[in-house]
Amino acid sequence: MIRIQEPAVSADLHLDANIPGNPAYQFTIVPPGTPARAGWSERAPLVSDAGLATKCVHAGVQPDPAYGAVMPPIYQSSTFAFRDVCTNAGYDYTRSGNPTRAALEEALATLEGGAGSTCTTTGMAAVLVALNLLLHPSHLICTIDCYGGTFRVLEHAKQAGGLAVSYLDLADVEAVDRAFRPNTGMVWIETPSNPLLRLTDIQAVAAVARRHGALTVVDNTFLTPVLQRPFEHGADLVVHSTTKYLNGHSDVVGGAVVAPQGRPALLQRIQSMNNLLGTSQSPHDAFLVLRGLKTLSLRMKAHEAGAQRVAEFLAGRPEVAKVQYPGLPTHPQHALARRQQQGFGAMVSFELRDGGRDRVDHVLRTLRWFTLAESLGGVESLVAHPASMTHASMTPEARRRAGIGDSLIRLSIGIEDPSDLVADLARALDSLPA
Ligand code: PLP
Repeated sequence: MIRIQEPAVSADLHLDANIPGNPAYQFTIVPPGTPARAGWSERAPLVSDAGLATKCVHAGVQPDPAYGAVMPPIYQSSTFAFRDVCTNAGYDYTRSGNPTRAALEEALATLEGGAGSTCTTTGMAAVLVALNLLLHPSHLICTIDCYGGTFRVLEHAKQAGGLAVSYLDLADVEAVDRAFRPNTGMVWIETPSNPLLRLTDIQAVAAVARRHGALTVVDNTFLTPVLQRPFEHGADLVVHSTTKYLNGHSDVVGGAVVAPQGRPALLQRIQSMNNLLGTSQSPHDAFLVLRGLKTLSLRMKAHEAGAQRVAEFLAGRPEVAKVQYPGLPTHPQHALARRQQQGFGAMVSFELRDGGRDRVDHVLRTLRWFTLAESLGGVESLVAHPASMTHASMTPEARRRAGIGDSLIRLSIGIEDPSDLVADLARALDSLPA
């Protein structure tokens, strides 16, 4: 006969267990919502003076006032009960506001040095929120090799009527100045640009835009506030696809628009626009991005160290005609990168010498650690062929004008051991047909 014995639990261990209800429970239980010790609430003002890594961990979050949870609860509720007629706790409906999303919005604003932000379902929704601030009919000046989705939405607005767009290499500030029209409402900067890693001098372009009464919007997806803070250079709005580095784990899509200090009307307009368009982010996705932010500073350092190694390796290979990476001294705007950025980022693009499609496809197929996929900014390395993937929505003529050729390959460097990534690329290049 099998005899099942009670596990031998010592009486001391049982009594020591900190389980509420146990007569030996040694802590005082207070009702949820009882004010926390003073130190908790003193943290918030400290955050603005803290270093970036500290901000990544602490911005936007306080131990939860109900039970002290260290991470904010996911308030997975579409609506909030009014305490009384015309009285609530600051939230009424999740499209307009949600406490979990508010924690992320505060964190992103703190990291960018802004006054507030609004978080959206995707990066494209953030682009839409910002573009919808324009009064129609308007004219907009945009980075010539902007993200393909941004190009698509601008082209749609052009065709629908009401928006005129000039795509320019924003490195030429005088050309930017000349491109202004009486109804130019916005300059759209992606720096570094996607996929050619061209830089824009934000300060110079923002000064010109201000003189013409236009807003300067910077899509800061590629660098994140760890490596570039556009408000310090005069930007009026910062846009993010939080799908990328800010979340960092390739398991969520999201976006954000951040407003600068001292412009309450602008902050209110982006918040209202997000509510009006119905593009606000779900509490669960906001929670995931907030979790990703905790390690952003660490991740960006690892991404960047890998990218520098990979870029230097590619630059030394005879099969490679050209490498685009702002961290290489040969990058035409390396000095600007040093001045404007706190690092060079982790996006690298390169062109094969004799870059017929078969040779490009060989590299795409041979790589093992680089997954052939759209997107960027996750912990895993990705490879993409912009002409057929991320920038396929551009017409061949628009790609030609932007300089996005068929032999261009884009890498998003993850946080793997750089030597593995280099070995993978070496294998692909070594095995190219002669
Ligand atoms: N901005 C940039 C620079 C991007 O690379 C992307 C997407 O790749 C977006 C915006 C759009 O973001 P999402 O895919 O989250 O809509």
